[in-house]
Order: sequence, then structure tokens, then C-alpha cells
Amino acid sequence: MDAVSLAKALIAYNSVSSESNLPLAAHLAKLLEELGMVVTRQDVDDGSGVRKQNVVGYLPPKGGTRSGGLMLAGHMDTVPFSMDQKATIRPRVDRGRLFGRGACDMKGGIAASIVAASRFSNTPLDRPLWLAFTCNEETGMHGARALASLRGLSPDHAVVAEPTELRPVRAHKAYWGARVELRGTPCHSSDPRKGVNALKPAVRALSDLEVLEDELSKVVPRDTEGLFVPNHATLNVGRLEAGTARNVVPGFASFTLELRTLPGQDPGTLFTRAESIIRKAANAGKVQVSVHLEQKDAALLTPADDVLVRYLEVMSAQPAGGVSFATEGHIYAAMGIPTVIFGPGSIGRAHRADEFVPTRDLHRAADILAATIQRFCVGATEYHPRFGP
Ligand SMILES: [Zn+2]
Repeated sequence: MDAVSLAKALIAYNSVSSESNLPLAAHLAKLLEELGMVVTRQDVDDGSGVRKQNVVGYLPPKGGTRSGGLMLAGHMDTVPFSMDQKATIRPRVDRGRLFGRGACDMKGGIAASIVAASRFSNTPLDRPLWLAFTCNEETGMHGARALASLRGLSPDHAVVAEPTELRPVRAHKAYWGARVELRGTPCHSSDPRKGVNALKPAVRALSDLEVLEDELSKVVPRDTEGLFVPNHATLNVGRLEAGTARNVVPGFASFTLELRTLPGQDPGTLFTRAESIIRKAANAGKVQVSVHLEQKDAALLTPADDVLVRYLEVMSAQPAGGVSFATEGHIYAAMGIPTVIFGPGSIGRAHRADEFVPTRDLHRAADILAATIQRFCVGATEYHPRFGP
């Protein structure tokens, strides 16, 4: 089995988060069964009414225990694409780069994980190997959350093969995302006194939030030095919408708000502060305000001396680091599974019109993950201390 041709086969399925992923799930389930794995297809309700599934494969060890061992995980869904861009569901290799939607985020990582597992289909394992592929990572991580309720899934360690340029990542920031809506009363701008302007308090809120943003940039903890760039919490308003026409007093405004905090910082406290700034501006402008918290992902922090962190540092010849984007890793960590993010391709190439993964990275990822399976699922049992949520 070859990681590049498998990645191409997976890219050819349209698995944009809003679509049903059942065809891709069926393909993966069949592949894992062919490797001798016991496969579970888990229905996931993402609230959209569209059918979604996780695919979980379990390669039993001698004796058949389900506890311990290693899980290789990844998400099947991708961000949207259009057929006029370079990265679509028609994959192609150009000068050592595999272009396609999901090439690095993260069908490449899934392909490398499966190729690594395929090398053990005829090897008796001492501890179980799990492959876990989820849906809806890009839109709320419903799939990974559903995995937590799957009975018997308790590996000692997990690798999530998100694109890290084959550098082990043991930490990521927390991510909270919200949408804010302000409602006033629109009126003809010839007499603004007859309406209540919703845009003005929105703008005031944004400039007050900037004060908080500046303040956050000055809190630089020592213990996460070298893990994050930037090594402080950040706040971003990514989208503002308001008004209908030049000669109408805007009766409605909305904006998005996101917070990324470091492990050890409480995103809830920060969110409450941001919310009170927004409410104050709304009250001053005499408009109604509603704040909808849409996403709440915790931070990830796997100890630097964790045995999987150390192992992947040696195998990749790179020190473990941190990233500022959230992954499903924090959900597995909350299940008590020490987790490392490690995979082919660069996050800088993900979600782009020309998304690609270097084919060399794909082969190397498969080799390193195979070695990791050998280390964690075959050979003498070692005690790996587990950490709690
Ligand atoms: Zn991803």
C-alpha cells in the first residue's frame, strides 16, 4: 500500500463538512476490514440532519485486550472548494507535491496512518492499535466528541496526524468563538433622531475590545515560552456586518469574536470580560444585544516528558512545540489519553486554494507512524503514566 495513491483515492471523495461523509466512511471501513481490523461505524448527529459517521478500527492484540496501546486519529471532513482552484477532489501530483482539497488537512495524514497500520496486519500485537477517523472537525468537532462515548476506547496514547510538517506538537491554544448581534431601529437618515443606530455601539465595542487585546499581548507566561508564537492570548474580530444603504440609519449590526488562550489561562474569564465590554457599549447606545457562544475548544498540553512526545522528537529529529490552532487533540486529552499532533504537510497550506502535501512527507509520515506502532504496540509492556483531564 502506498501513501500517495491512497491519499489521492481519499481526496477523490467530496467530504466537505456540510455534506454526508458516508461514501468516504464506507471506503475507509472496507480498507480497515481488509487489514484485519474490527470496524465500528458510529453515527454522529451534528444537528444539520445530514448523515455523518465516524469510522473506528481496532486491531486486537494477542489475548484480545482492548485497553492500552496506540490510537492514530484524523478527521475525514474538509473545508469547501471550487472546481476552478488548484486543490479540488481531482488530485494531481506536480513536482513532488500532491494537490487536492484535504491533501494536508488531513487526508494525507489519514493515508499515512493507514499505510503504517497496514504493515502490522500480519504481526501479532502485544497491545491494541486503533485507527479513529472522525467527521465534522472543521465545524464543531462533533465526531471527536462522539468518540468519547464509544465503549472500550482507552488507548495509552494518541497521535492526531494534522499537518505539522512532521514536527511533534504537544500543545495548542484554547479556542472560543462567538457571534454578537446588536439591534436598534432603522429609519430614513434624513432624520436620524427617529431611529436607533446599531452600528455606532458596535464600532464602540470594537474599539473598547482593542484595549483588552493590547492588555492580553502584555501577559506573556514563562512556562509556555518557546511553545507558542505569539506566546500570549489573542482576540480577533474577523467579520463585521451592518446596515443596508447609505441613506438609512442602520438598525442591525453583527460581528464575530474569537479568543485563543494559552494552556493554563481560563478562556471563560476572558470571554466574560469581552462580553461585559460589548454589553456596556450596547447599553450606552441603547440597543439590544445578544452574544452567541458558538465554539468552545479547550487547550492541549501534553507533558514535555511524555514517552510519546519524547519518541516522536527522536524519530523526527525535531523538538516538540505548540501551535495556535485548535485540534481534536484536546478532546482525546480530556479522555485521559496523552496526545501528540504529528503529520505531513503544513498548516500554512491548509484551507487554501492551492492546498498540497509534499509526497516525500507522506512516505516519511507513514514510516515514522509505523515505527511508533512498533514501539507502542509490539514488545515488552512498559508502564506509561496517564494524566487526567
Ligand atoms: Zn485539520
